[in-house]
Amino acid sequence: MSKRRAPESPAADGFRCGEVAVVGRPNVGKSTLINALVGARISITSKRPQTTRHRLRGILTTAAAQLIFVDTPGFQTEHKSALNARMNRAVRESVAGVDAIVLVVEPPALTRGDRDVAALLPVGTPVITALNKADSVADKSNLLPLIAELAALRDFAAIVPVSAEKRWLLDDLTTEIAKLLPLGPPLYPADDLTDRDERFLAAEFIREKIFRRLGKEVPYSTAVAIDHFAQEGKLRRIQARVLVDKASQRAILLGERGERMKEIASAARRDMERLFGGKVFLEVRVRVESGWAGDERELDRLGY
Ligand code: GDP
Repeated sequence: MSKRRAPESPAADGFRCGEVAVVGRPNVGKSTLINALVGARISITSKRPQTTRHRLRGILTTAAAQLIFVDTPGFQTEHKSALNARMNRAVRESVAGVDAIVLVVEPPALTRGDRDVAALLPVGTPVITALNKADSVADKSNLLPLIAELAALRDFAAIVPVSAEKRWLLDDLTTEIAKLLPLGPPLYPADDLTDRDERFLAAEFIREKIFRRLGKEVPYSTAVAIDHFAQEGKLRRIQARVLVDKASQRAILLGERGERMKEIASAARRDMERLFGGKVFLEVRVRVESGWAGDERELDRLGY
C-alpha cells in the first residue's frame, strides 16, 4: 500500500503555508477558479477539524506550498445578490486575517462592482489579481487596458491572466500566491490517500461522470468495479468494469462506436490525474451482468 506524504521537513525546504481568500464581484468566476485550483473532490480528504473561523473551501498542496482557500459562511450563497451592505461585510470578513487575497476580475474592463470590492481590501494584505476568462478574449493584447486600469487601482503583488474554465495559467497563479504565504509546514496533511482510497475514488469518478452525462437514462442498477489498480512510480494503471443489467443499457453507455464511454472515461481520467498527481492509464469495459445487484458476493467485492 503506497502513501503519498507531505515533503520531508518541509519548513526547512522553504515550504510555505497559509490562508488565501478569493474575492470578486458576482459572476467573475470565483467558484470555478477555486474548484479548478483545488480539484472538485479534494474536500473528501480533508477530514481534520477546522482551525480557522473561516470556512474551508479547499486545500491545494504542491511540492512547495500549501494554499488553504477560505471563505466566510454565507459569502458564496449571498454572492449572487447585488453588491450591497451585506456583501461588503462578507468581503471584509472573508479577507480578515488571511495571508493573501486573490481578487478575481474579468474582461473587458473594470466595473463599479470590481472597484467597490477592491476598495474593501485591507492595505496590509498582499493582493494578486486573477484576470479570469482570458479565453474569452481572442486578441490577448486587448487585456492590456484592463491591466493598466488595475495597476492604477492599487499595488498588486501580481496580475495574472487566467482561464479557470480552460485551466490556463493556473500554475502561474499558484506560484504567485505561494510566494506571499509565510514559511511553515503544512497545516493539513497533503492528500493522504491510500491505495484503497484511490481505488474507491477511481470508481467514484467514473460513476459520477456516468450520471452527469446520462442522468436518468441509465438506471441506478449501474455499478463500477475496479478490477486492476497498479502504481508504477507516478503512473497508475487502472482497469475498471461498469456493470449493467441489460444489453440496452450497455448500448446507451457506449454510445455510437463507443464514443460516449470514451468521453466518460477521459473525463474521469482527467479528474484522477489531478487528484492523484500523476498520469493515469484508464481502461473501462462495460459488461452486462444480469442480476449483479442481487449477488451478495459481488456486492461485497464492490464495497457496497
Ligand atoms: P462566481 O459568482 O464569481 O463564483 O462565478 P462562477 O464561478 O459561478 O462563474 C460565473 C460564470 O462564469 C459561469 O457561467 C462560469 O462558467 C463562467 N466562467 C468562469 N470561469 C470562466 C473562464 O475562465 N472562462 C469563461 N469563458 N467563463 C468562465
